[in-house]
Amino acid sequence: MTPATAETTRTATPIPILDLTPETDALWDQLQAAVCDVMRSGRFILGPQVQKFESEVAEYLGVRHAVGCNSGTDALVIALRAIGVSPGDEVITTPFTFFATAESISSIGAVPVFVDIDPETFNIDPAEVERAITPRTRAIVPVHLFGQAAEMDALGQIAETSDLAILEDAAQAFGARYGDRRVGTLGTAGAFSFFPSKNLGAFGDGGLIATDRDDVADAARLLRAHGGRQKYQNEILGYNSRLDEMQAAVLRVKLPHIDPWNEGRRRVAALYDQLLAEVPWIETPAVIDDADCVFHQYTVRIIGRNRDEVQSHLKQAGIGTMIYYPVPVHKLPVYSHLDVTLPRAEHAAGEVLSLPIGPSLSEESVHRVVDVLREL
Ligand SMILES: *Cc1c(COP(=O)(O)O)cnc(C)c1O
Repeated sequence: MTPATAETTRTATPIPILDLTPETDALWDQLQAAVCDVMRSGRFILGPQVQKFESEVAEYLGVRHAVGCNSGTDALVIALRAIGVSPGDEVITTPFTFFATAESISSIGAVPVFVDIDPETFNIDPAEVERAITPRTRAIVPVHLFGQAAEMDALGQIAETSDLAILEDAAQAFGARYGDRRVGTLGTAGAFSFFPSKNLGAFGDGGLIATDRDDVADAARLLRAHGGRQKYQNEILGYNSRLDEMQAAVLRVKLPHIDPWNEGRRRVAALYDQLLAEVPWIETPAVIDDADCVFHQYTVRIIGRNRDEVQSHLKQAGIGTMIYYPVPVHKLPVYSHLDVTLPRAEHAAGEVLSLPIGPSLSEESVHRVVDVLREL
């Protein structure tokens, strides 16, 4: 490391992979008022805030029903059951995702069938989905990874031909567009997460199921509240999985800002794309046509350098990065018995690196990240 670089390292402010403070600060008074109003209201579970949030989200997404619940994971679990997935059914999904995608399938007694990804987009490869269909296949769970829509046209055709349901894992893609629709509204149902680091994040856990189908929404509402429409009239075994009033109130303050925030992420991504085009050992993210990626992550491939060394070089300069995901889900200890090999996902896990991104990450910060990368 040159003396000049050492100097930069000491003096520059750190750049975390995600900084939530600018957006929180900008809305501070409204957020504080919203939380205080809930505390004074005495209504904490499934009250007016959740109801209003659900109708505002339904309108934003352009979907008939939005059903709030406890987390993105619960949204997946409840939606799987609501669309009719039963124990023993096979559900085709991607191995290149957060564990919860597959965990939700296994937790209801269904069987996750992992198929390989498209190496360009990191999303599930529709051709592989088609090959994996058996008489026991009941549903497909694509993930809109890093904020980019999966190939929903191709998946929709496959689902129609083979009479399968589609549950979109849209946890990382609130507000992303595919054609003229928002993701999470293209399949039978969509599951969203409001985990604080997601594009639309609460001050705690939260999730939501979107669907156009009345029967699916009805089943989801039943399942999230102990399987009962009315107190002491439980009809089926459900869950305690409600979105609470405090989180709904916070999310209602943030929802009107999601489009400009996502636009800010796209600006950051475009600048990275431009600056990194001159770094031959970095492959920038590929985006599909006629879709708006919301860049939950800006994930590059490191080719021809040691990825872990690149990461520690950035760390020494105060730049935070993450590896999403270091181990593909089918290789996790819990699924070791499956003994499948999915070369494209396994290869990606060894090369990916997610760089700092956020709605208001400054141009100066993006330049500094790229300058530090160029030192290698
Ligand atoms: C975050 C996430 C989930 C789970 O959401 P939680 O709200 O944390 O339960 C599921 N799938 C994907 C792809 C995610 O990124």
